[in-house]
Formats: sequence, structure tokens, C-alpha cells
Amino acid sequence: MTRKRRWRYYCDFCRKSGGSGGHIAAHERGCTLNPNRTCGMCAAIGNPTRPMAELIAAFESHGSDWAAGLSALKYLCDDCPACILAAIRQSPAWQKAREEAEERCQPGPELDFDFRADVAEFWREMNAARSAADPPGFYEPGPGLLCEPAENWR
Ligand SMILES: [Zn+2]
Ligand SMILES: [Zn+2]
Repeated sequence: MTRKRRWRYYCDFCRKSGGSGGHIAAHERGCTLNPNRTCGMCAAIGNPTRPMAELIAAFESHGSDWAAGLSALKYLCDDCPACILAAIRQSPAWQKAREEAEERCQPGPELDFDFRADVAEFWREMNAARSAADPPGFYEPGPGLLCEPAENWR
């Protein structure tokens, strides 16, 4: 009989866990709930990560006009889906607006933002650009990008 104990690693910010410390550490660096995250998608296109405070401020800059806030946010982070998702998830005003609507049993504010589709599009463009310049070789989304099922994103 063999008996083994294995370490399990947990992200400090979301509920993701795994058996590989390196994988979870990489996830944690880019986790969309990490207030000091370094964005793997921005890095992939050579952009620095905008500080979360700036991204959140842009998203909240138009009060309850969330569509305008989303535009400002997109502009600031160069349309990076991971940074957009991070700002939405970490915005206190957005969370509050949704909670208040829930308390009144009203539909919460909605956003025209499809994280999964935008991420897919991001990597499609990336691979097209890369295979033209330097074939073959493809970028894959790193482990830091996706951490929870869609229903938990907001
Ligand atoms: Zn996480
Ligand atoms: Zn980003």
C-alpha cells in the first residue's frame, strides 16, 4: 500500500485551486480579483498593465451610465478583455449598483461585454498577426486569465 499526501494550492483572491504551485502562482499574478495584478494579455501585446485604481476610476467615471463607463474603461486598457473584467469585478460602485437592484428585486445594470468571446477574438487576432510575421507558433491564453465560471464573473 502506498499512502501519499499532496499539497493543494489556492488563489488568494478567487476560488481557483490546483495541484501545481507554479500554475496557481501564475494564475494569481493575473487573477482578475487581484488588486495588484499584472495582466498577461496586456503583456502579450506589449502593453504595461494599467493600475487597477485607474481602470476602476474610468469604469465609474460616468456614474450610472455604465455603457459610457465601459467605453472609457475599454479606451484606457486598449480593449484588453482581462483588464475590463478585472475592473468590473473590482469596482465597488458597480457591485453596489447590482446589490441595490437585487434588494429592490429589480433587474440589475447590464453591460455589453462578453468576456469569453472577447478573449477568443483577442487570441485569434494575436495568432493571425504572429503567424504572418513569424510562423509557426501560437500564443495560448496563460493560466492567469480565466479563473471562474461565467456565472461568477460579476
Ligand atoms: Zn484567482
Ligand atoms: Zn490587460
